[in-house]
Amino acid sequence: MRTPIGTAYREFHRRSLEDRDAFWAEQARLVDWHAPFASVCDASRSPFLNWFAGGMTNLCHNAVDRHLAARGAQPALIHVSTETGSERTWTYTELHAEVQRMAAVLLALGVGQGDRVLIYMPMIPEAAFAMLACARIGAIHSVVFGGFASVSLANRIDDAEPKVVVSADAGSRAGKVLAYKPLLDEAIARAAHKPARVLLVDRGLAPMTMVAGRDELHAAWREQHLETVVPCTWVDSTHPSYTLYTSGTTGRPKGVQRDTGGYAVALAASMKHIFCAPQEGAQRSPAGETFFSTSDIGWVVGHSYIVYGPLIAGMATIMYEGLPIRPDAAIWWRLVEQYKVTAMFTAPTAIRVLKKQDPKFLRQHDLSSLRALFLAGEPLDEPTATWIGEAIGKPIIDNYWQTESGWPILTIANGIEQAASKLGSPGVPMYGYDVKIIDESTGRDIETPNTKGVVVIEGPTPPGFMQTVWRDDARFVETYWKSIPGRTVYNTFDWGIRDADGYFFILGRTDDVINVAGHRLGTREIEESISSHPNVAEVAVVGVGDALKGQVAMAFVVARDASALGEAPARLRLEGDIMKTVDTQLGALARPSRVFFVNALPKTRSGKLLRRAIQAICEHRDPGDLTTIEDPTALQGVRDAIGAT
Ligand code: AMP
Repeated sequence: MRTPIGTAYREFHRRSLEDRDAFWAEQARLVDWHAPFASVCDASRSPFLNWFAGGMTNLCHNAVDRHLAARGAQPALIHVSTETGSERTWTYTELHAEVQRMAAVLLALGVGQGDRVLIYMPMIPEAAFAMLACARIGAIHSVVFGGFASVSLANRIDDAEPKVVVSADAGSRAGKVLAYKPLLDEAIARAAHKPARVLLVDRGLAPMTMVAGRDELHAAWREQHLETVVPCTWVDSTHPSYTLYTSGTTGRPKGVQRDTGGYAVALAASMKHIFCAPQEGAQRSPAGETFFSTSDIGWVVGHSYIVYGPLIAGMATIMYEGLPIRPDAAIWWRLVEQYKVTAMFTAPTAIRVLKKQDPKFLRQHDLSSLRALFLAGEPLDEPTATWIGEAIGKPIIDNYWQTESGWPILTIANGIEQAASKLGSPGVPMYGYDVKIIDESTGRDIETPNTKGVVVIEGPTPPGFMQTVWRDDARFVETYWKSIPGRTVYNTFDWGIRDADGYFFILGRTDDVINVAGHRLGTREIEESISSHPNVAEVAVVGVGDALKGQVAMAFVVARDASALGEAPARLRLEGDIMKTVDTQLGALARPSRVFFVNALPKTRSGKLLRRAIQAICEHRDPGDLTTIEDPTALQGVRDAIGAT
């Protein structure tokens, strides 16, 4: 019988905060250290933390090499593409060989410790080999989601300054080939920084024009390094393992920087306590079992729970390229049955997509191996949670976290003590996290249950949490730690409440970040892209509630030449044109679902855009306090624009 959070977990959580060093020193035994650490949590430069300083380790060693002796012949990576019809398994020994080959190629292309390697790839095994190869040689990978287009990519190239880019000819979605190489070429042309070499995997999906002296074919280089031995480079625990860009309030994405040792420990502990909790009573390791996360390597879930987490735990991990409904809506469940998946991780949007399909697809396969389904990335609505829970008859475990945290902030740690999930709540603060609800304007703690405030984390943050913003310590401090008056706390930029049992409920972002199908997008980035269209004078982008995707972006544009908008066809043409601009610059992911034309945008007298009021109107809610509005007719213009469609 599952009950609310019990004393065993409460004590575990208390120890993680009050006896921090002893607690995490214990967790650190879950991974291998080449040299022991001198201190556990060095917070002398807080909020900059050094976890396990002095300790020498390597993420690739912990994910691959250390398993070779006991489980070399066991599956490690299972790659399935329903786009190209390929399905293949690599054992730990085979994965080790491929990672060494990729590491040897990167070394031969001049990559050294601390150099950045930008990985812009579809969900193919070489992407995982490249990530692990970087970790192996102490290079810092920066994976850019394959759905991003040239301007997004160029911004990230300029920030990461990679020595080498690893990419491929193309990805594929719903059977449609999406060429990557032209987007990459355009991004490099746009970027001020020029990577020395580009390593390309040719899947035979799209033709590639090779740039002499810069572009290299992966297959040819791999062939030369089939037998090259590349030992792991032992790095300090605090050595950055990767950067991953994420959106915030400004148009410029932030490079979330992660360490090595803290991340390895955090992931190992999360696999044990959260994701692979044994059945009631029994204590055993998940090694040898299969983990299936449907995310993409371009997102933090992919880093933590497609690549590193399951491998650190000695599990087989499934990497899936394709849609959840192709060839039909039974595909994921076929994989669960075939590979005896014990834990699965996806996003609520995917479940809402499945919900629209014939329920027979859920009953075609034997799901008896599966112990739990984890959902994260966006709010999990109650109907979706209830529907999938009943349909598959397994516990549904919501978990709330961010690119910045690297692993769950709020969920249920069934590995410590079985507890009930509450519908609508991701759960309670995980060990290592001192999570509070505070008043945004006064900075005071809100102790009264069910009272809305900002969700913040009191430092020191646990291992695995971001170290800083890549090359911008000041931005890290100013953005995350100094945004609340009178307090130095980490701001999640999410609204939330805590109920009387200590369960948290997340109520949406406090900033201009929107969440489309679990993908985090900055409205400012989209606005900047739309503004580059010659006939756009002003623009506001807001996130509007959507039954399938959680939110979609909607744009409100003041045209430079309004005379072009007289007729409906002209309006439609401009709308299409603006959407195309976003498509080619940022990627289809960021494309607004609608572009509306207005005469003026609602602003305060000091010129600040009233995005929240626009959003409220789009969602047919009360726009709230409008005493500061400069021109109330602008709001009516928004109403008319959406009403006119
Ligand atoms: P990302 O950094 O892309 O993982 O996005 C993180 C943001 O997604 C959070 O700040 C939340 O706004 C939202 N989010 C992630 N997981 C959840 C969840 N389980 N429930 C509600 N919101 C979530």
